[in-house]
Amino acid sequence: MKHLSNISLKDHNTLKINASCSNFYVIENKNDLSEMIKINLGGSRHVLGAGANVLFKSDFKGTILQIVMNEISVLKESTKHVEVEADAGVVWNDLVEWSVNNNLGGIENMTSIPGLVGAAAVGNIAAYGQNISDVCVGLTAYEFETGRFKNFSSQECGFSYRESIFKNELNDKYLILSVIVRFNKNPEINSEYWSKKHGSVGDVLKDNGKPPYTLRNVVDAIIKIRRSKFPDMNEFGTAGSFFKNPLVSKGELESIRKLVPNVQYYPVEALHYVDNLLSVDSDFVKIAAGDILDNGMGYKGKWSGNVGLYKNHALVLVTNGEATGEEVDEFAKKVSEDFYKFCSVNLEREVVTI
Ligand SMILES: Cc1cc2nc3c(=O)[nH]c(=O)nc-3n(C[C@H](O)[C@H](O)[C@H](O)COP(=O)(O)OP(=O)(O)OC[C@H]3O[C@@H](n4cnc5c(N)ncnc54)[C@H](O)[C@@H]3O)c2cc1C
Repeated sequence: MKHLSNISLKDHNTLKINASCSNFYVIENKNDLSEMIKINLGGSRHVLGAGANVLFKSDFKGTILQIVMNEISVLKESTKHVEVEADAGVVWNDLVEWSVNNNLGGIENMTSIPGLVGAAAVGNIAAYGQNISDVCVGLTAYEFETGRFKNFSSQECGFSYRESIFKNELNDKYLILSVIVRFNKNPEINSEYWSKKHGSVGDVLKDNGKPPYTLRNVVDAIIKIRRSKFPDMNEFGTAGSFFKNPLVSKGELESIRKLVPNVQYYPVEALHYVDNLLSVDSDFVKIAAGDILDNGMGYKGKWSGNVGLYKNHALVLVTNGEATGEEVDEFAKKVSEDFYKFCSVNLEREVVTI
């Protein structure tokens, strides 16, 4: 098994934080897995994917494990579905490409999300109306404490908005080894997602061509939208949306609308914005925190030293590649505090701070 000591993590996190780590193990195959089981992994330990959703606040004085096993295998097939097991180290976008090339529907709207398959389940990734929890049938993981392997059903993964049991009760207790995804052999195009700024996926599809649309058309449309929204990762350090969209009651939404009249919101169970509160059955909605930071607080595009909020999307924190973890942490704290002062709503981090 590849073992590195006292290395910089700068190339292992997309915020480009130059923290160091004492021990870094890379699990490349099943033999490495057996070897890892023999190593004493006591003390501080962290499982790292591609580092696209983590903030290293300071040097990590412990052991980092990274799984890069990356096979995709078909487990079973029926007339309607194909179940596929993807190793935790498969690059998420490679799985999207694999599915689109095989005309299998279910994750095409989640194209171009950085990171690996294992972390996709941990963070219950979602984008443009699709959600990994809708297609994940289950996963296999290794329990550090007992040395046992365990299968989790989708229900046992405890998925909710950008959360799973592995980010909460079972945080750092398991190493996810593989994830099972059920694909649709007769894909339905999901183009409902819309936002004030970017229009709907359907609009972009129309601009690009005529129906019937293919999964590849959807991928191309979403890449176009994402390019206008997210920073170029070669130019900036970023972890995507640094904060979560807060959950507020309809009453709170009304107060926020007095501050930001056009704030966007969506029902908790949906993954796209709506423009009529009457169409929302539940008492709570998710609000677009980026809208509040931008239109209410004028925070979009603002920098303090080496850290800022991206000029095209205020929920996306960016660095110039020189920021320390401490600086990012302080900046993010200030944004949350100011957000609370502005609208009395807590702005929680989506990014895992280590
Ligand atoms: C430009 C940009 C755009 C983004 N857009 C989106 C988006 O549209 N939608 C979205 O949902 N997210 C988005 N993200 C966030 C990010 O891509 C996802 O959270 C992604 O799943 C992180 O993957 P990773 O492999 O980098 O995980 P890491 O950041 O390395 O890890 C994240 C968490 O998962 C844990 N973990 C990782 N692998 C394992 C494993 N094998 N076993 C157990 N625990 C593990 C880690 O310990 C950590 O707690 C974006 C990020 C960026 C930089």
